[in-house]
Amino acid sequence: MSHVGKMIPKFAICRCGAILPLTQRIIKCGRCGLLYEYHPEKIALFTLEFQCGDNPLFSFQLFESVIIGRDGYDRNYIKIRSMEDRMKMENTYIRNIFISRDHVAIHVEEEMIVPRDGQEIIVKKKCKIEDLGSKNGTEINGIPLRPGMQYELKHNDIVILAPKTLLPLTITLKEKIINEQEI
Ligand SMILES: [Zn+2]
Repeated sequence: MSHVGKMIPKFAICRCGAILPLTQRIIKCGRCGLLYEYHPEKIALFTLEFQCGDNPLFSFQLFESVIIGRDGYDRNYIKIRSMEDRMKMENTYIRNIFISRDHVAIHVEEEMIVPRDGQEIIVKKKCKIEDLGSKNGTEINGIPLRPGMQYELKHNDIVILAPKTLLPLTITLKEKIINEQEI
């Protein structure tokens, strides 16, 4: 498991559409009067679970935008590279020659905050996937991605890289709300 980066939330959107500055724990909407409880210590954590052939399951905690593809140096292995600093790498220890060097990008969008069920407000991020013109393509839940287009990922979505080859690489997105201290 690994992770990098963190952003600080500033405001949320009320159900009525008004902007709620997140300055204290109990927040009252100035327009409609709804009361909210803000939980700055809770965040939505994305985990990518990799599975391919007989390799053991590899998990990656996603905090920033990354590119998934084959390593340029040790070309058999799947690497996760930070989009900001392409040199930074995370080895998955998964061998797969059907994956392109830049196969997919996973974009983690700037933090936005939405009230959850009831009146609780927590930090929320958006996660989108983009096929970067890979040779063997990508599917989400069985639907092929159009290269260069971004698709939103939700909890339990199953992404398959190189689906029609001998060695499809399966990535499952897991979203979990946790207390920050648990990271
Ligand atoms: Zn309101």
